[in-house]
Amino acid sequence: MTDLRTLDRTELENLYSRLEKQYLAFKSKNLALNMSRGKPSPDQLELSSGLFDSLDARTNKTADNIDVRNYGGVDGIREAKELFAEIFAVRPSEVIVGGNSSLTMMYDTISRALLKGVRDSELPWGKLPQIKFLCPSPGYDRHFAICEALGIEMIPIDMLDDGPDMDKIEELVRKDDTIKGIWCVPKYSNPGGIIYSDEVVDRLAMMETKAADFKIFWDDAYTVHHLTDNPPHLKNILQACSKAGHADRVFIFASTSKVTFPGSGVAAMAASEANIKFILDQLSVQMIGPDKINQLRHVRFLKNLDHINEHMKKHAKLIKPKFDLVLHELEAQLGDQRIASWSNPKGGYFISLNTLDGCAAEVVKRAAAVGVKLTKAGATFPYGKDPKDRNIRIAPTFPSLAELKMAIDVLCLCVQMVSVEKLLT
Ligand code: PLP
Repeated sequence: MTDLRTLDRTELENLYSRLEKQYLAFKSKNLALNMSRGKPSPDQLELSSGLFDSLDARTNKTADNIDVRNYGGVDGIREAKELFAEIFAVRPSEVIVGGNSSLTMMYDTISRALLKGVRDSELPWGKLPQIKFLCPSPGYDRHFAICEALGIEMIPIDMLDDGPDMDKIEELVRKDDTIKGIWCVPKYSNPGGIIYSDEVVDRLAMMETKAADFKIFWDDAYTVHHLTDNPPHLKNILQACSKAGHADRVFIFASTSKVTFPGSGVAAMAASEANIKFILDQLSVQMIGPDKINQLRHVRFLKNLDHINEHMKKHAKLIKPKFDLVLHELEAQLGDQRIASWSNPKGGYFISLNTLDGCAAEVVKRAAAVGVKLTKAGATFPYGKDPKDRNIRIAPTFPSLAELKMAIDVLCLCVQMVSVEKLLT
């Protein structure tokens, strides 16, 4: 294949009719394939079936002799706090272990900030006429959905190779006290697979913010989800914030959703001890205690960070061939055409594909019309609006290799068809 931009009109028209024939052939196959959500595959779930056996009626006490079957322990059981402290590289006293979803913890944290304020707020955020969040984009659609649902204005920030555009962020937060927060997925970002550099972490920690109660929502969802043997390093944000004199600036989140069972995992957050105390006072009104049975079960199964890393290698063994397949096909089918570019992630759950400007929505629509479902175009941007209409999130983990091959063939075909149409206009 050659650079499509060098083809003349007749060559493009000839190519288009060949592509159209292939498209019609896919249509007759009645496909029903889904590359839209980052879900583990059934064989990944099998890796954690030991969870069902890791607790029984005789072993239901924690190290502190607490009966996990009963109420209590709003901050989570001691051994679960120790486990997440190891994951986050913080102290157990800086951790709250919660329920089954980190997204719920994030939503609740923002809801409480709106109703009650955060520790350093003069007023609850909801009492202010307007508040805003910075949204590095492309980013995680559900973060943006929380802002939209709760009436928080979103400001898109470009994602660069080593994290969000810090020059822009510093310029905005310095002068606007209605900017109260920023969403960050600092390791293997969803969808770009970006890892924040030490410099970005330090600048976020140190920057001057007009709002005294500005918060970083540090969603470290993919912190142990490596696809390589030599995982990259991410600088510790809580330490960086403390060193910069802004210890209360950051809330860190993660869960075992894609370590064990999504929806039945354990979520946790970390923050300064002062923040943790403030949050626990509020949480103890919200609940009497989390699901300690699930917490203990997870600690018994996952044991410690070394053991989690071994467990995650088994996940990587199953999903790396899927990432490799997608990357190989993108290169083989689109490599020389200069109509698309894509990420080559070292971890996480996604590959981010950029088409020519103005093509992504049509590509997604066209793939859906032959039975290949992709994440809605635009979903990776605030308000579902990709200003360049070019980003498509590929989630390769759930389908089998055979399904994935078919789905990626359709995707590459649709990218070519829509690009040729664009070049012909
Ligand atoms: N954060 C990010 C960046 C994600 O990609 C996901 C799921 O895809 C979640 C959070 C959801 O986490 P949980 O299952 O703990 O709610």
